[in-house]
Amino acid sequence: MERIAVFPGSFDPITLGHLDIIERALPLFDKIIVAIGQNAQKNYMFTMQQRRQFLEETFDDFDSVEIDTYEGLTVDYVMAKGAKFILRGLRNPADFEFEKAIAHTNRAMTNKEIETVFLLTSSGKSFISSSIVRDVIRNGGDYTILVPNAVKASEEQK
Ligand code: ADP
Repeated sequence: MERIAVFPGSFDPITLGHLDIIERALPLFDKIIVAIGQNAQKNYMFTMQQRRQFLEETFDDFDSVEIDTYEGLTVDYVMAKGAKFILRGLRNPADFEFEKAIAHTNRAMTNKEIETVFLLTSSGKSFISSSIVRDVIRNGGDYTILVPNAVKASEEQK
């Protein structure tokens, strides 16, 4: 059976931290679906279309990476895709506490059918987050050291 993992997130925008986690997870799974969650309560800097385009450009050459979008519960989406794994990255103790609660909830909600697999961020990438990138962009700083080329090339920041 194919080992499929879903990497869910906001990707507002994708950063070198996300890219690092996905690249390192490639040998673990037959397919990784990078799934952009749409949450009506959240204010995004980049539109869904822009976020998707950044991901599609970044993973153009990766045969086993697929880009998709979803609404609603992550576990419902994961089950619908026939995936058994959720992939998440851990940067620090705060990520761990937050992710632990979600992973336990997701496992309980799916009758233990879905496991969350965590990868530690590479040293040198742990400080990178989408929210820091957005702050740097808002304040006119050089964000290009934090993101893949697809985001750098974009002139369409809000
Ligand atoms: P969410 O809104 O679901 O947290 P994000 O796009 O911010 O979405 O993050 C998606 C996943 O990527 C999360 O598991 C997060 O911990 C991970 N991640 C983000 N930045 C990094 C990084 N620098 N190193 C490792 N993992 C990261």
